[in-house]
Amino acid sequence: MERVAFLLEFLPYIQRFRNHTFVIKIGGAVLQDGKVLHGLAGDISVLYNIGIRLIVVHGGGPQADVLLGRLNHEPEKIAGRRITDSETLEVTKMVYGGKMNMEITAALQRANTRAVGISGVSGGTVLAVKREPTLVKDPDTGMEKKVDFGYVGDITRVDLELVNTLVSHDYIPVIACMGVDGDGNILNINADTIAQEIATSAKAEKLIYVTDVQGVLEDKDEPSTVISYLDLAGARELLEDGRVSGGMRPKLLNCISAVEGGVERVHVIDGTAEHGLLMEIFTNQGCGTLMEKYRNGGDV
Ligand code: ADP
Ligand code: MG
Repeated sequence: MERVAFLLEFLPYIQRFRNHTFVIKIGGAVLQDGKVLHGLAGDISVLYNIGIRLIVVHGGGPQADVLLGRLNHEPEKIAGRRITDSETLEVTKMVYGGKMNMEITAALQRANTRAVGISGVSGGTVLAVKREPTLVKDPDTGMEKKVDFGYVGDITRVDLELVNTLVSHDYIPVIACMGVDGDGNILNINADTIAQEIATSAKAEKLIYVTDVQGVLEDKDEPSTVISYLDLAGARELLEDGRVSGGMRPKLLNCISAVEGGVERVHVIDGTAEHGLLMEIFTNQGCGTLMEKYRNGGDV
């Protein structure tokens, strides 16, 4: 009887989400533990098997830092964004496009999904231009300075033809966070931004940021302060009052762009929590941060 009740409870979710698109961004921090990756792949497989169209985007920052460290090259970051000099670009190609992409694809295959590893370069999926030196306010010092981010791209366009072709043949594209400019130069691009641009362009029902903290936190050092619900105004306020720093800043900015761009719901969840992904999607209370344009109070 319990099982039947469970199935009945599950049905509205399946009806609601079947054939809809979710974009899932997996952060590098989550990928450091093989067990965590396999758990997450199992959760993604449940979504895949109920007929949700899935697009996975990933980073690999911590893994790139490890290899850079081995090469005695200290990575530099400002306001949560990496400076990509030529050595760093080489390493990001190897780590994002190679190691991480293959490992995620393999974990998803093991979980009985049809995953295909590509990068933003493949099929011209992510087109970008090299970022001009820009004025950036360093949240640590409050000072504005001109920063040359190096081989970092700003997205000009995403072309979803390859991704849609794969998805419509029941594949899960796994996209490494690199892009390409019109001259064939490969550029490093923040994976949160690629996920957001793809989600917006694909008119995704959900954009899910899987990271290594419980969600957006009121106090970044206090896991119990997770903000379970944010609307646009709340997110803007958080950014302004400086409670959000490091990699969560670009993430939250992208959450805002996604909901402004028409993605209905954006989630920030902890990928290291067991079944965190399924809990967030299939329970009303969820466990991470849910963000919408306006509070709508809907059930699923
Ligand atoms: P990912 O690899 O998933 O993109 P990042 O390291 O780029 O992860 O961003 C998440 C990090 O942002 C957290 O691990 C945390 O250290 C930092 N952070 C700063 N402020 C906040 C906040 N208010 N809430 C949550 N995380 C925060
Ligand atoms: Mg990040």
